[in-house]
Amino acid sequence: MSEKCFSCVDCGVMNCVKRSGAYPEFCPTAALTQEEIDEVTDIYLKNRTNRKVAVAAAEIEGEFYGKYTRVEEIIEFAKRIGAKKIGIATCIGLLEESRIFARILRLNGFEVYGVSCKSGSVNKTTVGVDPKYTCVTGPVMCNPILQAKVLNKEKVDLNVIVGLCVGHDSLFIKYAKGLTTSLITKDRVLGHNPVAALYQSRAYYKKLLLAPVGEEIDYSKISVGNIK
Ligand code: SF4
Repeated sequence: MSEKCFSCVDCGVMNCVKRSGAYPEFCPTAALTQEEIDEVTDIYLKNRTNRKVAVAAAEIEGEFYGKYTRVEEIIEFAKRIGAKKIGIATCIGLLEESRIFARILRLNGFEVYGVSCKSGSVNKTTVGVDPKYTCVTGPVMCNPILQAKVLNKEKVDLNVIVGLCVGHDSLFIKYAKGLTTSLITKDRVLGHNPVAALYQSRAYYKKLLLAPVGEEIDYSKISVGNIK
């Protein structure tokens, strides 16, 4: 393994937000020049969309902190950036959730266009997936690039991801032209609540901190209290 590179994930002081002490020696804030920071700030100030999005997101955070669910926050965000038409890039397995979400969006005055991940109905083997991986999940590939192209063509003002798979979401974001946010992040084990694995990493999911993913763990040798 390469030498450990320290960064914000190793920080215990968080002076960038607290502004009450010193920055650690590996701190990216301390390593930046004022010119570099100003250059980035200009990207907000000189681009109307960037500014509108940044302001809307911060205002929603400030006004509805701990009050609005993500569904409500997305509606508020869409309103504040002036979106009229919302694109839903949905997993076929979450179509029922997308239907409910679409109903809520329509109730709030938005036009909705949804595209399922299986649209196009292309075989997985066409892009080189080994047929052995189609036994459980079927022959039709998830097609996030097609989802993005359809929603681009529909000229939606905001894309919302509903449960696309890891990696399929990456391709959707890569090819979507408009702004994209997520309503549901897929986790087939944890009821689409992936952070539960981290919250439980000192208990039921402690295996995540004890060995690389996929390695066998001898549970008879460990106890809940042995993770530092
Ligand atoms: S920017 Fe610096 S102070 Fe802020 S979390 Fe990262 S390392 Fe810590």
